Amino acid sequence: MAKKVQDALKDLVSLCKRRGFIFPGSEIYDGLANTWDYGPYGSELKRNIKDLWWRKFVASRPDVLGLDSSILLNPKVWQASGHVGNFSDPLIDCKACHERFRADHLLEEKLGEGCTVGKNFQDIAAMIVENQIECPSCGKKDFTEPRAFNLMFQTEIGVVEGAGNKVYLRPETAQGIFINFRNIIDNVRPKMPFGVGQIGKSFRNEITPGNFIFRTREFEQMELEFFCEPGTEVEWYGYWKKFCMNWLLQDLGITSKKLRMREHAPEELSHYSNGTSDVEYEFPFGWGELWGIASRTDFDLTQHQKESKVKQEYFDPIANKRYIPYVVEPSLGVDRLLLVLLCDAYDVEKLSDGEERVVLHFHPSVAPVKAAVLPLVKKGKVKEVAESIFQNLISRFNVEYDETQSIGKRYRRQDELGTPYCITVDFDTIGEGDDVDLSKKGKVTIRDRDTMQQELVAIEDLEDWLAKRVR
Ligand SMILES: [Zn+2]
Repeated sequence: MAKKVQDALKDLVSLCKRRGFIFPGSEIYDGLANTWDYGPYGSELKRNIKDLWWRKFVASRPDVLGLDSSILLNPKVWQASGHVGNFSDPLIDCKACHERFRADHLLEEKLGEGCTVGKNFQDIAAMIVENQIECPSCGKKDFTEPRAFNLMFQTEIGVVEGAGNKVYLRPETAQGIFINFRNIIDNVRPKMPFGVGQIGKSFRNEITPGNFIFRTREFEQMELEFFCEPGTEVEWYGYWKKFCMNWLLQDLGITSKKLRMREHAPEELSHYSNGTSDVEYEFPFGWGELWGIASRTDFDLTQHQKESKVKQEYFDPIANKRYIPYVVEPSLGVDRLLLVLLCDAYDVEKLSDGEERVVLHFHPSVAPVKAAVLPLVKKGKVKEVAESIFQNLISRFNVEYDETQSIGKRYRRQDELGTPYCITVDFDTIGEGDDVDLSKKGKVTIRDRDTMQQELVAIEDLEDWLAKRVR
C-alpha cells in the first residue's frame, strides 16, 4: 500500500518541489519526518484558500462571527472536552520488528473501502487476528494488544519544570470557540442562530502520518461552530452539508465525480453526535476524508458548564426562554483541501505536436499567480510596454513578469504554476517593425491556460478583463 501511494503521488510531490509549492521540512538537516514547508507558490495558494473560506463562511454572512483563539489553553479545557481521557488511537507494536502502527488503519487497508472498524479495543484485537493482519514492515503476524495512545502534544509552560506546568498544543481549534461562547453572547450579543468561525494551527501526534500533506502532525483548520436552538439542529445539519458541497463544486470548481458525501453509520458516531457526514475526495491513493460535518448536540457547552461552573445558556428574549444551544460543526483542514485542489488540478496532456505538457488547472480564484506578462523580446519598446503593464496590474493582482527563455518554455512554466492567463507583448502591440499588423496596435495577446486559445485585448481594457475572470 505505502509503495503504491508513493507512486500515485510521486509526480505531484516532485512538481510541488520543483515549482516552489511545497518543500520537505528541515531539508538541509536531512529533514524532519512528516513536516512540510509551503514555498512561495504554496503559501500563496494556501492564503487564497483561507481568504475564500473566510469570505464565504464568515465575512459575507451576517450570522457568522470571527475568532482567533490561543493555541495554548488551560488544561481543564481538554479535561472537559474529553481529549485528555479519550482522544487516542489504538496503537499496536509488531513483536518481531517493534514497528508501531494504528490497528484501525491496518484493518481498513486490508478490508478495503466500506469496512467499519469500531472503537472497542477488544473487538479491534480480535479483528487483527481474524483477518490475519501482517506487519507492513516485516510480514510477521504477531502484534501486541492494542493500547490507547493519546494524540495531544504536551509541553511545559513557564521557567520551572514539573507538575502543574503541563499544557497541550491544541488538537483542534473548536474548543477555543466553545470556551469563548459566554464572552461572545455577553459582549457581542448575537441573536440565535449564529456561528463562530476561526482559522488556525492544530497539532496531533499521529502514529502513522503520511500521504504527503494528507495527514500531518501540524496542520491548519478552518472551523465553524454554528449554534442553534435545540430541535432545529437537524435542519441546520442538512443546510451546512449542502452549503459546503456547493462551495467545493461552484466556487472552487472541484470535479464533481471525485466528490461524495458519506453519512456515518450509527456505530461510527461519537456518543454525543446525532449525525455526522464526511465529504470524501478520490485521491490518487483512494477515497479519503476531506470535510467532516457533525451535529454535536450540546455536548461541548454542557461539558464546559460542568467543568468551569460558568453558565453556557442563551436567553431568547422573544420566546422568553433559556437553553444551552445545540451546535453543527462543518470543519475542514486547509492542508487537506490544498492537497485536493492540487490533485484535482494536476494533469499531463498530450499536445497536437506530440509534446506533453504538465498543467495545473486551478480555478482562477485559487490560482497563486493570476496572470504572467511575457514580452516577446527583452529590450526596447516591447520590454518597456510589458513592464508598464506589469506595474499597473501588480497593485491589484498577483501577477508575474518573465522575459527569460523562449515563449514556449515560459508558457510551460506558467502551466505548471497553474497561471490561468499569459499576456504577451510583441511588435504588433507597439505597432513598430517589419510586417506589423497595425490593427493589433495597442493590444496584447492573452493565452488561456486550459484551451491554449489566444485572444486580443486592448491594453486599457486589461485590468477590467482580468478582474472579471479572477475575482
Ligand atoms: Zn514487523
